[in-house]
Formats: sequence, structure tokens, C-alpha cells
Amino acid sequence: MYNSLIEANDAIEFLRKTKYVKELSAYKCTVCGFWHLTSK
Ligand SMILES: [Zn+2]
Repeated sequence: MYNSLIEANDAIEFLRKTKYVKELSAYKCTVCGFWHLTSK
């Protein structure tokens, strides 16, 4: 999980470069209030 959208986007950037993940986006979880990544 990530504290902010900026952190989440950084993680997405990293994963795209290293793991060739195509579809990744960040969303703010309504349960815990942190940001998560989804591959949908
Ligand atoms: Zn959550």
C-alpha cells in the first residue's frame, strides 16, 4: 500500500520498467484510506 498518489505512481512507473506490467493504476482504498495498485 502507499501513502499517497505520488508514491503509488512511482511504484507503477517502477513496475512498468522492471516487470513489464501493462495495465496498472492506482486507487484510493475506501477501507484503509491508503493507495493500492490494481492491474485491471
Ligand atoms: Zn486498503
